[in-house]
Amino acid sequence: ERKHSDPGGVTFYNDTLAEKLGREVWLRNKLARAIEHQELFLMYQPLISTKTGRPVSLEALLRWRVDGNLIPPDEFIPIAEQNGLIKSIGAWVLQQAFIASKKLNETHPGMIMGINVSLLQFQDEHFTQMISSLLHSVDAQPEYINLEITESAFSLEKHLLLTKIKQLQEMGFMVSIDDFGTGYSSLASILELTTNAIKIDKSFVDNLDTKGEIIIEAVIQIANRLGQHVVAEGVEYQWQADTLKQMGVHLIQGYLYAKPMTWPNLLQYLDEAHS
Ligand code: C2E
Ligand code: MG
Ligand code: MG
Ligand code: MG
Repeated sequence: ERKHSDPGGVTFYNDTLAEKLGREVWLRNKLARAIEHQELFLMYQPLISTKTGRPVSLEALLRWRVDGNLIPPDEFIPIAEQNGLIKSIGAWVLQQAFIASKKLNETHPGMIMGINVSLLQFQDEHFTQMISSLLHSVDAQPEYINLEITESAFSLEKHLLLTKIKQLQEMGFMVSIDDFGTGYSSLASILELTTNAIKIDKSFVDNLDTKGEIIIEAVIQIANRLGQHVVAEGVEYQWQADTLKQMGVHLIQGYLYAKPMTWPNLLQYLDEAHS
């Protein structure tokens, strides 16, 4: 790998295709042992209620530190999805986040824990059974857990998708659609959604001053009619938060309020937010 330094001191990589493939093979091999080597951990990002201005929910975000470097999830999750590792990694995430949720609810009752679930995990025939036994072994409360499934779930056969969502809700979980607006779904398909919340993708928040506003307005109207909560992700500026609040978004997640943080930092943050 050739490393260059630009005058600003930022190091970037100029990989050839062979180097990229080499890195991927290397990552894949390393990832297979990441759990065993205790290289994975969760960070937690608060979601703020537009009504109260306080954190009411969190999103658990997976991190992988290997040889001292943090590999972003956008890079390693797709690799895990390609080779089936996502099943064990996803189960590890669920277990860790259930434990965190249980601990958190002793001191911060009602705090919701959002957990990302890959489509590959979600469509696995043993998923509901797996999640149910995990829940019981940890003894966490599903009412405080929100499973985030990306919009790519719409690629599943409709009956299968709705049945799975219903099963999870009957177990007590909340289910929401993540990154809404980026994928397969049409306006018609959102009408059939039986999820608890819709998380509008950052790309619409980024374009809030142009066409993003029209889309967000439409999604809020539909979501309100369906009795679903609306969440906006990737909010970085105060004017965006103000606009989204005024438009009727219920929850806001973004660097404006808080970045993903480690468990100890989260506890400190929550104590300060509630005092
Ligand atoms: P996501 O589920 O849409 O998560 C939100 C992402 O946006 C996170 O990136 C978060 O750090 C980032 N973010 C939040 N607020 C802001 C902001 O104001 N500005 C900017 N620029 N970014 C913001 P992260 O942690 O890198 O995760 C990326 C994606 O990786 C996630 O997107 C999710 O699709 C996936 N992912 C993360 N953890 C897991 C996991 O445990 N399981 C699965 N299946 N996927 C995961
Ligand atoms: Mg998410
Ligand atoms: Mg998202
Ligand atoms: Mg996103």
